[in-house]
Amino acid sequence: MKTKKNVVIIGGGFGGLKAAKVLGAYPDLVNVTLIDRRNYHLFQPLLYQVATAALSPADIAAPIRALVSQFINVNVLLSDISIIDPQNKTIIGKELLLKYDYLILACGATHSYFGNDEWEEFAPGLKTLEMATEIRRRILMAFESAEKEIDPIIQKVWLTFVIVGGGPTGVELAGSISEIARLTLEADFRNINPVDSQIILIEAGERVLASFQDELSIAARIDLEKIGVTVLTKTMVTNIDGNGVKLKHSELESFIPSKTVIWAAGVKASPINLTLGTPLDKAGRLIVEANLSLPNHQDIFVVGDQAHFDLPTGLSLPGLASVAIQQGGQAAHNIILSICGIEMKKFHYFDKGQMATIGRKLAVMEFRGFKARGLFAWIAWLFVHIYYLIGFKNRFIVMFNWAWSYFTFGRGARLITKKDWRDS
Ligand SMILES: Cc1cc2nc3c(=O)[nH]c(=O)nc-3n(C[C@H](O)[C@H](O)[C@H](O)COP(=O)(O)OP(=O)(O)OC[C@H]3O[C@@H](n4cnc5c(N)ncnc54)[C@H](O)[C@@H]3O)c2cc1C
Repeated sequence: MKTKKNVVIIGGGFGGLKAAKVLGAYPDLVNVTLIDRRNYHLFQPLLYQVATAALSPADIAAPIRALVSQFINVNVLLSDISIIDPQNKTIIGKELLLKYDYLILACGATHSYFGNDEWEEFAPGLKTLEMATEIRRRILMAFESAEKEIDPIIQKVWLTFVIVGGGPTGVELAGSISEIARLTLEADFRNINPVDSQIILIEAGERVLASFQDELSIAARIDLEKIGVTVLTKTMVTNIDGNGVKLKHSELESFIPSKTVIWAAGVKASPINLTLGTPLDKAGRLIVEANLSLPNHQDIFVVGDQAHFDLPTGLSLPGLASVAIQQGGQAAHNIILSICGIEMKKFHYFDKGQMATIGRKLAVMEFRGFKARGLFAWIAWLFVHIYYLIGFKNRFIVMFNWAWSYFTFGRGARLITKKDWRDS
């Protein structure tokens, strides 16, 4: 009988979790160690709902241990991995040093401020639960500060919200903040009228939702403007500080005073990639072979947001949950094939389309040439997100919360939590 191979997976996100579940079905062939620096799997597509107080953090997260507990050959470890040593087939992390026969990298991506990391303090991105609750704190505090302010000019600054980046996350955030101001908080304040809030979405390119077809991206802009969002396209952000955002549009410079700026513009791959010494693309992603392994390292596979996978069209696959899930599954199957001495398979992406929601009954979707917007796309968006949400309890709670806020216009998670637990 063959000795079992040790497979290490770094990252319990969409890609890593799928790989662990596939390998969990082969207890006679592999022992799997799934490592993550967090103890939970996070459903990132609904992070903006936490940031805008529609859902609570626990609604969109589930403990990784519980998700793979039925697989006796899968062991879960909590550690932050910092170094990969392919020569010695070793990974090194916080209080951990581990040998592997096969390695799957599924560490995802982080934010990129395009070399302006000092902007982060004034414009947090949306990638983790901590970031989502911090954005929620800033949005809700802005309304509270405006309510106390007697100077109408400063009041206006508090009620100005700027979102940088017109991709799906930026569009979803802008639409949600507008809904908070127009529908949720309308009756709750006495000195301000939240409906007077200004929500400004800034996009450097020619249109928002640039990955969608022209028609849907134009429709999204119209819908955003209908619900009170100001959309500025072909506009570059040149500086962000505690007072607001400096912009450049056709050589003209301007400044938007604002205390609440959110970054939804750029992503870069995990910094762990730099330790491998193999080719990276411009976003820092590891360039993988057709079977998802690294060039010259047939025992290391990279999936999801961490990988750059070239399509025959010359483009590369986008950072989507469906890409990560399919690649995680394929990498796991290729490891099994390799152990059995069978040639590994090339990865083929099954395009599941894309969708973005703009607000109540407003969304856009496209799937293999089929396009939809409005109520139909919004309902499809709701069901797809419920379906893919991990865990029955989460699905039930999210469905209930959505139904509740639909009928009451409320947002139940309007909690301002402090940054520092030591504060009394
Ligand atoms: C706000 C937002 C909205 C999105 N909306 C959508 C959407 O609507 N539809 C869609 O398809 N996609 C969406 N995405 C993209 C989608 O979430 C990603 O493409 C997907 O999460 C990538 O999966 P992954 O497994 O590569 O990485 P992730 O899901 O990011 O998982 C990476 C895991 O690795 C762990 N990790 C990272 N570094 C280390 C380390 N050094 N050591 C140990 N553990 C580590 C992390 O803790 C994390 O658990 C959205 C993303 C964001 C941020």
